[in-house]
Amino acid sequence: MFQFDVALVQAVPAYSYKHADQLQPGQLVLVPLGRREVLGIVLGPARAPRDVSKLKEIIRPLDHPLLSPQDVQLLLWASYYYLADVGLFARIMLRGLRDHLASRLPTLLRPGPMAGQSKSKPRHDVLAALAEGGLDAPGLALKSQVSRGLIRSMIKDQELVEEDGDPFHLGKHDVGVWVDGPELLPAQAELVDVISSHDGFRTELIHGVTGSGKTLIYAHLIARMLAEGRQVLFLVPEIALAQTLSDRFHMLLGHDDVESPIVMWHGGLATGRRSHVWRRVQSGAPLLLVGVRSASLMPMPALGLVVVDEEHDHSFKQDEAPHYNARDIAIKRAQQVGVAVVLGSATPSMESLVRAQQQQRHRRLTMRAIGNEPVRPEMIDLRHVPMEQGHCLSPPMVAAMGEHLARGEQVLLYLNRRGYAPLMSCQSCGHRPSCPECGVRLVPHRRQHRLLCHWCGYAEAIWDKCPQCHDGLPVFYGIGIERLAEEVIGLFPSMRTEIASSDMLQSSAKAAALWGDMHAGKINILLGTQLAAKGHDIPGLTLVGVVDGDPDHDAIDFRARERLYQALDQVGGRAGRHREKGRVLVQTSCPEDSLFGFLGEGDFLGFAQDEANRRKRNMLPPFTRMAGVILSSAKQRDAEELGFAIARQARALPVDGASWMGPVPAPMSMLRGQSRWRGLVRAKGRDELEKALAAWVLPLKVPAGARVDVDVDPQSFY
Ligand code: ADP
Ligand code: ZN
Repeated sequence: MFQFDVALVQAVPAYSYKHADQLQPGQLVLVPLGRREVLGIVLGPARAPRDVSKLKEIIRPLDHPLLSPQDVQLLLWASYYYLADVGLFARIMLRGLRDHLASRLPTLLRPGPMAGQSKSKPRHDVLAALAEGGLDAPGLALKSQVSRGLIRSMIKDQELVEEDGDPFHLGKHDVGVWVDGPELLPAQAELVDVISSHDGFRTELIHGVTGSGKTLIYAHLIARMLAEGRQVLFLVPEIALAQTLSDRFHMLLGHDDVESPIVMWHGGLATGRRSHVWRRVQSGAPLLLVGVRSASLMPMPALGLVVVDEEHDHSFKQDEAPHYNARDIAIKRAQQVGVAVVLGSATPSMESLVRAQQQQRHRRLTMRAIGNEPVRPEMIDLRHVPMEQGHCLSPPMVAAMGEHLARGEQVLLYLNRRGYAPLMSCQSCGHRPSCPECGVRLVPHRRQHRLLCHWCGYAEAIWDKCPQCHDGLPVFYGIGIERLAEEVIGLFPSMRTEIASSDMLQSSAKAAALWGDMHAGKINILLGTQLAAKGHDIPGLTLVGVVDGDPDHDAIDFRARERLYQALDQVGGRAGRHREKGRVLVQTSCPEDSLFGFLGEGDFLGFAQDEANRRKRNMLPPFTRMAGVILSSAKQRDAEELGFAIARQARALPVDGASWMGPVPAPMSMLRGQSRWRGLVRAKGRDELEKALAAWVLPLKVPAGARVDVDVDPQSFY
């Protein structure tokens, strides 16, 4: 009997199992867990061998290609680096396999005894598609561009026969791939050359203003890889962008294969589709995988290049356990496999910028590829303009909107606040509705007639009469995007005004319709949250107005300034890309803030230098390392006591170069019924951070019902 450590697709550490035969690391297996059968990955021989009689036996190894040694290493590294159970990562890594096993196992089709008897062209195409090997029915229908019905008829007519076989052989073959787009500009061509003139692992940062043509550069790098028979991992921060980018690559990449070499990976796909993508990727066929966070862990047997677009975006970091950053996983992966990783952004994160500058791989594109140069934002000083009570658009903003609309151009107003107003209360007794689970104020969403908790999703019907005093009417404080809509419709009643927020665009069909109308110029004024700031290139859009551009001086997030600059730059980049000169107006009550000076000059590097100095002075990342420690429990005392236990431990066992800050009640002191306290470990470097966590946090005795959640390289601080 041999003993192995196995990572299960469950929130547990690796467990040991026994098996009569030798197994390789990366072998996929079914093992017993309680009464269930669970999928797992063999990590290697058991590191702490035990009495064989006490171990459970592996049920069976799966008839499936092994994961690579690098995949196994990545799993172990992620679990170690983020201090999370290896199973949490195995779960993400094997999502596609789980879907594949859940969907009916495909049988392969091959030409049957009656093949070629029919003269029909579609039937001929189907048979031709099998020239390179058997395919399953969906794969064959896709490849030969016929209906599944026809495939079924051909099976009935014995032109095709079913046989069991290796479903991972999907006809791996060379595909010709080329870029079918505009000629590269000299600045773009130079970057393509520089980046592809090296071999092996390196991190290249393409820092290019919005519209500088980063996508065409990616397309050239990708085409080279696909032509060499390699696979490319392309990460984007959200599903909508995966769709946009994959559409653009469909336009830009020509290929001589019947099946497109571009596939997507995200949670919105149907199980069958995911199963198909999983099998295609595992077959090792050259392809481009465009995906969100979870794609960073997808095993890719022929990985040749990794691209992370909008690398600064904090959506790459998962807010819940495992708290991984897909960008950083992607970089680690490229390092393990020995290939390049290309990061792209108009406003890179401080982490990436500082590293790229040190390594002299900071590649800049300072001009737009076509059309006008980026618009310099102008500030409107809210202290010096008369504002109507309860309104949020200043006279200069309204005047500019009028001018642009009169010319038939489109306007985007940016306000990153969902709902009608941040706060609602009863006019007569002052009652404020709050979430029973989290304690935070519920946000009125009048269009949906609901009061919503933005943290846990709790919802109740909105009231017209206060449920507490049965008398007062609701009053609203502050401005949300729905209230902004009322003001805009009142000012420009003949214009079509729409809202782009996650509440309004819950289905992808709705989102597609809205962006379709926006592109076609059918919407005059679009009011958008963060969602509207990304990725869209609207020809008729010439005015962007930022409703609230105030930096939050009390922000608990030390990246608040970086985020504000990024958001304003991104939304501003939507203006006047194609035609008439655009304008970007930012309403703020502190225009003297240095951030606006840099923004007005389009001087991101100046801003970054300023920010770097501040971070260095205050010993903040990227010049130090951090880990958030979140202590939660149904019993408030338990969470608090865990925090103080860490503090005592940190005093008793000091670690050179590391300090503990806290505990304090978390800004979200209740979440989903759990009391929360938190603290922060700050360290000079990764080594010190590891030592401190090992000395102070890992030995904690956690009472039943309580939880200690470590967030390495935190992006959020609630
Ligand atoms: P980014 O991703 O850097 O913001 P895009 O890739 O979206 O920029 O490119 C901006 C616009 O410039 C797009 O409309 C694109 O088609 C166009 N473009 C990019 N490169 C070229 C080129 N070499 N020749 C002509 N048009 C280009
Ligand atoms: Zn809640």
